[in-house]
Amino acid sequence: MLFVDRTGSQAVLVPIVQAPVIDTHCHIDLVIEAGISEETAVSEAGAAGVEAWIQIATGLKSARFNADFADRRNAARGNKIPAQAAGDEADRSASRATGASNPGPAVYWTAGMHPEAADDLSELDELLQFVRDSRERDDFVAIGETGLDYFHTKEFVENQKLSLDRHFALAKELGLPVVLHLRDDRVYDPANIQTVHDALEILDRHPGVVGVLHCYTYTEAEAQAFVDRGWFVSYSGILTFKNAKTIQQGAIRLPLECLMVETDAPFLAPLPHRGKTNQPGYVRHTLEFLARLRAEHCGEDPDTVKSTVLANSKRFIEQKHLLKRGAGG
Ligand SMILES: [Zn+2]
Repeated sequence: MLFVDRTGSQAVLVPIVQAPVIDTHCHIDLVIEAGISEETAVSEAGAAGVEAWIQIATGLKSARFNADFADRRNAARGNKIPAQAAGDEADRSASRATGASNPGPAVYWTAGMHPEAADDLSELDELLQFVRDSRERDDFVAIGETGLDYFHTKEFVENQKLSLDRHFALAKELGLPVVLHLRDDRVYDPANIQTVHDALEILDRHPGVVGVLHCYTYTEAEAQAFVDRGWFVSYSGILTFKNAKTIQQGAIRLPLECLMVETDAPFLAPLPHRGKTNQPGYVRHTLEFLARLRAEHCGEDPDTVKSTVLANSKRFIEQKHLLKRGAGG
């Protein structure tokens, strides 16, 4: 993005440097299926200040896609994928100085089984073996997404719980954070939070397991037990919707140090793109909204909100290096 600087005698094109941001949850395979090309998604994300995104698996097929996609994209960046490189200021000033084209965001990725795919657990063993085999890759950051979804279907709840339990067990064994999906209803209803209770009950069988509540749609009350256990809470574009007052209240009341943002692209595009196919570059709108919300209600400096959310996302990306492997624990 460029603007014309007219302060001097001559108009000069000056690049606007966007505050850096990480999309902590997207499905680029599905974005491409929805008709947005990889090149468009990559260049728009780069222009929006997206330094990295985490490409999330929903099953074995997408886990394999993620591994190949990350290989290819990160090779295009000269394999500068550690989280530290994602925020490498020297790198950015070098590309500003030379006018080099943006190589696109670093790509991190996960492997796991989405709860809506848990009707058929025949691939679960192979998928969890894939997680095991990927553990030492620098660009592999977490297990998931897994979780409980009683909104889309209640037909295979026991399968969902079994799958979640096995994801938590492997997370504990390998020292990996978990990307957790919880959904009871389209809108928050305090009388309908069964997935939160069930997930906590299963989590308590695996003490020490941490992760992120992704696309969070409950209040601060439901998040508290997870936050107390060291979990992150990630907000999607839903946060920007006008009817999302309860969700916004949670984003105001939770500690800044646990907050991250995501697109969950191609779903749930934030305002002003609501209803369109979502893509990683749109995460900027959710971050801006969160920064304004916290400035208004918590008195926090918007730039501090943005830099803290970025730092949180980097901590999440690096978390596996700090987790103890807890086999038998
Ligand atoms: Zn997702």
